[in-house]
Amino acid sequence: MSGPHLTHATRPVAELLRFDCTLCGGCCEGVRVPLYNEDEVARARAAARDLGLDVDPVDEGSLRMSGGQCVFLGADGRCSIHGQLGMERKPIPCRQFPLIALAAKNEHGEDETRVGIDPAAYGAFASWKQGSTLPDTQVVAASTPAPGGQDQLERALVRMCEDDDATVTGLLSVITREPAPRGELPPDFAARWASRVSEVRLAGFVELDGPGPVLKRGLGPVAQASAAWTDSPPAWPGLPDELDRWAVEALRRSLWLRLSANIPNVSVAALFVLGGAVAAAWTDPRPGPFVAALTAWLRALRFELFWKSLAVDQATLMWLATGQGPGPTR
Ligand code: SF4
Repeated sequence: MSGPHLTHATRPVAELLRFDCTLCGGCCEGVRVPLYNEDEVARARAAARDLGLDVDPVDEGSLRMSGGQCVFLGADGRCSIHGQLGMERKPIPCRQFPLIALAAKNEHGEDETRVGIDPAAYGAFASWKQGSTLPDTQVVAASTPAPGGQDQLERALVRMCEDDDATVTGLLSVITREPAPRGELPPDFAARWASRVSEVRLAGFVELDGPGPVLKRGLGPVAQASAAWTDSPPAWPGLPDELDRWAVEALRRSLWLRLSANIPNVSVAALFVLGGAVAAAWTDPRPGPFVAALTAWLRALRFELFWKSLAVDQATLMWLATGQGPGPTR
């Protein structure tokens, strides 16, 4: 990669962009892939013709989903365009994935291209430190505005995540303005979050058609466990340093690359990512189940249906974030 303002953090970091694909097929489900222009639309239709698909692969400017999966995903969990027509025939976001490129402005108002690995790619955690480095390539950057025009808040939270001492519990204390001893969850937030997550009945979401099978497998245990969180939150199990660091890094990337930009407030987006880490840890803090649940949660957050069920209206949101107000009515 090259470019005058190509960056993957607000400050220079030594880490390279690393990733190894696990070939799980999970990245091609549960999220609609945007087609950037008419040429991309035509290319997708041409690929469908060449592959003998009898359905229009374009749906409202994105790749069509069927059963929660991209129509080009084969039964073997592989991309049929990639396998039969070649990598270069894939849409731009798929060719670049899990690299995300975002056209944004830096703090001086200059153009910059932010790049990073999507933390909701299922292999992201396993290859975070030791994975293969991505080859140098030109990137095509999407342009997504900061939610609510909150560029400064976005940058401030990203900087907090870049602090080596940042933790899930510490960041939650900052966002909810609720002090808690180091390493402990803000207790009132924990109670509110547990009751809200149990009330929304994640099991209903997991049964829908939209989330694909890999997402459902990751989120299923949280859906099951959270049904019992109605009266009081589970004890906070704590997170091993490595998992805590990963959850903070997942938040940093989510904000930096605006991966939850459909949530119209940066603090709320951050609260929901950290809340996902809490729900995953409450369910099972061992590395395998925790990472699978958090990854599925991050993908689920891209469904409006999912995050809007957590924050069904402004009053619920206010109560969830601050404890103020009457609380959820539904
Ligand atoms: S076109 Fe291929 S790589 Fe892109 S989402 Fe569909 S199956 Fe996955």
